[in-house]
Amino acid sequence: MAKQLEGKVAAVTGAASGIGLASSEAMLAAGARVVMVDRDAAALAALAGTHGDAAIPLVIDLLDPNACATLLPRVLEKAGQLDILHANAGIYVGGDLVDADSAAIDRMLNLNVNVVMKNVHDVLPHMIARATGDIIVTSSLAAHFPTPWEPVYASSKWAINCFVQTVRRQVFKHGIRVGSISPGPVISALLADWPAEKLQEAKAAGSLLEASEVAEVVMFMLTRPRGMTIRDVVMLPTNFDL
Ligand code: NAD
Repeated sequence: MAKQLEGKVAAVTGAASGIGLASSEAMLAAGARVVMVDRDAAALAALAGTHGDAAIPLVIDLLDPNACATLLPRVLEKAGQLDILHANAGIYVGGDLVDADSAAIDRMLNLNVNVVMKNVHDVLPHMIARATGDIIVTSSLAAHFPTPWEPVYASSKWAINCFVQTVRRQVFKHGIRVGSISPGPVISALLADWPAEKLQEAKAAGSLLEASEVAEVVMFMLTRPRGMTIRDVVMLPTNFDL
């Protein structure tokens, strides 16, 4: 029996770690070829050989606008088509706004908002020409329950939720589905930037998600029958004080 994503090509950004890696692994297991995009060349190289030929590494620093613009052409050069974009790469800046470094705020807004919008913008003509495509954006629970310790991060994800909800209505008629996933706290490198006491609290309460759980939801979204939207999924953690 054919696997669920047999014959599909996916591009996953931020694929060398955390949610992006788990999502890539789930799509590979479902038979897709996955272009794993990350700026971390060493981490991608360390993964080489562990996921077979269907895992195709692509080093791009998405914060470099020239490199970011090469995403689609380089995916097509390596894999010939693009059926699925998981726009997942993101960074975190938390804490009191007055203490935040403005260059770090710029980087975060660029990656979490501008780059996601540009990635989606850049792949759409290819997907529209083929009259098919799925786009999933990694948002965050922070956008749905803004907390006082991450004002800029929560706002970046709020912006991207608005983008998802609007652009999906423009492209559904072309056979393209756009959705978002908003996980609560996930065990990954990103949580290293969380306030230590918050992390301890969440660990003690058993409320942290595994990246593989997020990947399961990504697969749920991707395998919904065509013609049905892929929705916005919010993953509420249990035992977590919002
Ligand atoms: P992570 O730090 O484990 O992985 C992020 C990956 O993105 C890394 O491999 C990193 O090298 C890559 N990356 C960062 N900047 C990049 C750039 N400029 N160009 C290309 N690649 C770049 O983090 P994660 O937890 O897996 O986060 C993935 C997404 O999930 C982010 O958008 C994040 O905001 C979101 N998210 C995370 C959590 C959480 O608690 N970890 C919760 C909700 C949403």
